[in-house]
Amino acid sequence: MNTIGFADLKLAPEILRALTESGYSTPTPIQAQAIPLVLEGCDLMAGAQTGTGKTAAFALPMLQKLLPFASTSTSPARHSVRALILVPTRELAIQVEESVKAYAKYSHLRSLVVFGGVDIKTQTPYLKRGVEVLVATPGRLLDHIEMKSVLLNQVQMLVLDEADRMLDMGFMPDLKRILALLPRQRQNLMFSATFSNEIKKLSAEFLTNPKLIEVARSNATAENVTQKVYLVEQADKHVLLAQLLRGSDASQVLVFTKTKLTAGRLAKQLQKEGVAADAIHGDKTQLERMQALEAFKQGTVTVLIGTDVAARGLDIDQLPMVINYEIPHAPEDYVHRIGRTGRAGASGKAISLVSPEEEKYLKEIEKLIKKEIEKETAVVSHAAQNSARTNRAPRGEHSERSQAPRGEHAGRSHARPAAPKKPGHDPWFDKPYEPSASAAAAKQPEQPDGKPKKVVAALFVRRQS
Ligand code: AMP
Repeated sequence: MNTIGFADLKLAPEILRALTESGYSTPTPIQAQAIPLVLEGCDLMAGAQTGTGKTAAFALPMLQKLLPFASTSTSPARHSVRALILVPTRELAIQVEESVKAYAKYSHLRSLVVFGGVDIKTQTPYLKRGVEVLVATPGRLLDHIEMKSVLLNQVQMLVLDEADRMLDMGFMPDLKRILALLPRQRQNLMFSATFSNEIKKLSAEFLTNPKLIEVARSNATAENVTQKVYLVEQADKHVLLAQLLRGSDASQVLVFTKTKLTAGRLAKQLQKEGVAADAIHGDKTQLERMQALEAFKQGTVTVLIGTDVAARGLDIDQLPMVINYEIPHAPEDYVHRIGRTGRAGASGKAISLVSPEEEKYLKEIEKLIKKEIEKETAVVSHAAQNSARTNRAPRGEHSERSQAPRGEHAGRSHARPAAPKKPGHDPWFDKPYEPSASAAAAKQPEQPDGKPKKVVAALFVRRQS
């Protein structure tokens, strides 16, 4: 059992005070392992799932090492960039810097975050005032370097956070350009949720005799997340999703889609059905994304829909449920996605809606996580969906659900009335939502053999709880 406290890790009183204020009492396993090594000056290759407390694992010893440079002076010369934290997405950048700021609250160390999608001119004056800890997405940092608004010749610590994602997103050339500008003598810390061969190559290239730490089996999914798969036709997924949401008591649900288009349309559709949903994706402005995230954190939006890229790095405390509307084609993304729930020891549910065309990806995921996920064939009621639209129960009241026959399944069949135009295609997204379209869909569906399809309304969530 891990009984050491932060004080045992020899952290400075001003950092300990900030931790107490943040409500941290004991270090998480990654923190207990990483903090002493970073304080010793080692390079680090850390395999840690999201939600393990990895930000504090690098930020706390980093701040401690920078304390001698803390200064109350207003002169920019007294506030050189000493630590650079590179992250793949804007959202993660914001979150990491928020954490750094909180941990540095009682020191005079300055931190700043820069990312793309916002007017670069608004960031420049802050950079020019000087900061010790700079959190940045690679592209925007290069813009600032070109504009000469930042100098990196005093950087002594470099963090590559979510390095696997940086590679996936094609940041390698940007990383190489940035790294070439840093002093050779520096400490490097690399964090990655998954350990691919590319990551091992990257670590061999950028790290010097790194210490390897891994808090959970790489590519493992958190033990405290209940995983479940519903086998369902692509074209039935939106109905099933609405049923799941209506039947769920989860206060917040994060839904993943494959494309920005699906995320946007799904959010609009759910809004029309009275669900407080919003989408977060790359086509939205930074302000819209931040507003959606804030509304989700505050609870005014209960369902947030996003793609992998947009949802990466979201840190919502105690997120109870994640739904994969479409499962990712890269199995590692599944690990990242479901890592959004069950964070910092809390329990969570991860539900995946899997169409016949996606089953091959599901197999890949199961191979990666070395676990078979519980599966159930979903039989979807368009009639129930339609009546729910006209006679909507308030959130938390599940009148249909309580009348639904339990355990009635049509077997492991994906049969549905209107066959999709092509495998995996969802005709529902072809046109903008209009009530008449759903009325047509409410016609009692027929199986290919002419028999009516069984109507089993929204029994899904109850079976899991
Ligand atoms: P991370 O893996 O860095 O994204 O952290 C996941 C969540 O755990 C964040 O909300 C942190 O604030 C929280 N956290 C990190 N370390 C601790 C700790 N030692 N005790 C309690 N919560 C923590």
